[in-house]
Amino acid sequence: RSKDQGGGVFHAYEPQLHVEAEERRVLEMALRKALENQELYLDYQPVVDARSGTLRGFEALLRWRHPAFGLISPVKFIPIAEEARLIAEIGAWVVRTACAEAASWPGGVHVAVNVSPEQLHNPQFVTVVAEALSDSGLSPQRLELEVTESVFLREGTGAVRVLGDILALGVGLSLDDFGTGYSSLGYLSSTRFSSIKIDRSFVQTAATGRAEAIAIIRAVVAMADSLNMTTTAEGVETEAELRMVQELGCRSIQGYYFGRPLPVEEARALTQRHQQTRAA
Ligand code: C2E
Ligand code: MG
Ligand code: MG
Ligand code: MG
Repeated sequence: RSKDQGGGVFHAYEPQLHVEAEERRVLEMALRKALENQELYLDYQPVVDARSGTLRGFEALLRWRHPAFGLISPVKFIPIAEEARLIAEIGAWVVRTACAEAASWPGGVHVAVNVSPEQLHNPQFVTVVAEALSDSGLSPQRLELEVTESVFLREGTGAVRVLGDILALGVGLSLDDFGTGYSSLGYLSSTRFSSIKIDRSFVQTAATGRAEAIAIIRAVVAMADSLNMTTTAEGVETEAELRMVQELGCRSIQGYYFGRPLPVEEARALTQRHQQTRAA
């Protein structure tokens, strides 16, 4: 894969595996300096009420703009950060920045922050969250952490304890990309999640009329209801998808149909417009 075909930093004449390893090495070195060089920032994607369209909050999504390589997707650099043991430091920056930026938004809108499994196997993370809240003045009820099922894959109860300590701060937890990972539902009784985010793949398939995908979403919504959790449909792009997840009872939705991830100033402006509409 050459650079022109997308993503690669190196040239096509080298064997594929070597190219990928080399690219990773270069990105890892660059990532080590990304924080101090202020190359990282957050975009915010709106999450809205599925029925009324009312703004409920935003999901903070990490962005890395390298001066030479340009914008690099988190799908690419988060796994590198995890393997290079940089995720604790980067993740702490994300939590502090999201809390500080959201603290000044009017109307008590929520902010959701993605957390890697690695961060939850480190008890220090609870201190990071507590300090981000007290330094920013953000009410814990306005912060939500998103984790995926993979956090429960590793042996031991370390992560479950850290999640419990985070809940004790008053922070909400949501289960991201639900249905795509390894799903032993046992953890739903050990950790009190406030919401389930139904992965975009189910939303897409359901909207094509596939009975199985529809039945799965319906079952997830019913399970969430009886466990006192809400549901968010991820990646809603079309009106057909919106209608389908509304019909199936998803509480909130997120997706390009309502809005792409926005720079922080635009997210703030959206919050202010929303406040005025409600006051009017
Ligand atoms: P995620 O947490 O599931 O975030 C949702 C992803 O779906 C985002 O991609 C978002 O831009 C994208 N998306 C939202 N609506 C639509 C839609 O209608 N259609 C399509 N096709 N995509 C949509 P993004 O920003 O590239 O992030 C990808 C993943 O990277 C995230 O998936 C999350 O797992 C990870 N990530 C992002 N920021 C962070 C972070 O601060 N920390 C950690 N640990 N992971 C992060
Ligand atoms: Mg997420
Ligand atoms: Mg997700
Ligand atoms: Mg996803």
